[in-house]
Amino acid sequence: SNPVVAIVGRPNVGKSTLFNRIVGERLAIVEDTPGVTRDRLYSRAEWLGKEFHLIDTGGIDFDDHDILLEHIRYQAELAIDEADVIILVVDGTTGITDQDQEVARMLFRSKKPIVLAVNKIDNIQRLNDVYEFYSLGFGDPMAVSGAHATGIGDMLDEVIKHF
Ligand code: GDP
Ligand code: MG
Repeated sequence: SNPVVAIVGRPNVGKSTLFNRIVGERLAIVEDTPGVTRDRLYSRAEWLGKEFHLIDTGGIDFDDHDILLEHIRYQAELAIDEADVIILVVDGTTGITDQDQEVARMLFRSKKPIVLAVNKIDNIQRLNDVYEFYSLGFGDPMAVSGAHATGIGDMLDEVIKHF
């Protein structure tokens, strides 16, 4: 059956926006104010003739920092179990946070293929914001903008290399 690709990352980095770009439809709810969203969303997707199943993880953005961290961990575990390739999304406008580090540690230990996407790189002036993400240890970060639909093809090229 088709490979499974999961989009993982802390709330508000733009996972659902990227999911919608990849599937070409607005299936996922993009949250302008953090809150409760659909927990997990699956869709078929395709790049360069290669079909795959795409999962948007995410769900609930808790106020309580400890509960949120538990939830992020849980979503990451599910993705590790289900996915053949994981897209780890981070936010280029905020830099690396503790929650990013936590997810990155879990994904690193899983030994699954990880494609690191630095989102919200909306213009070339922001490209400098990408470099600090090398320290997460997943190789070259892919600069993307879900809002402007840029960099997504290059990111998907990396994803399908792992099929
Ligand atoms: P999720 O919680 O990770 O699924 O993030 P969402 O896709 O719901 O997006 C969170 C917020 O970031 C929303 O206000 C989006 O409009 C915004 N956003 C998503 N992608 C981009 C991007 O590429 N550039 C900018 N500037 N904002 C973005
Ligand atoms: Mg979402």
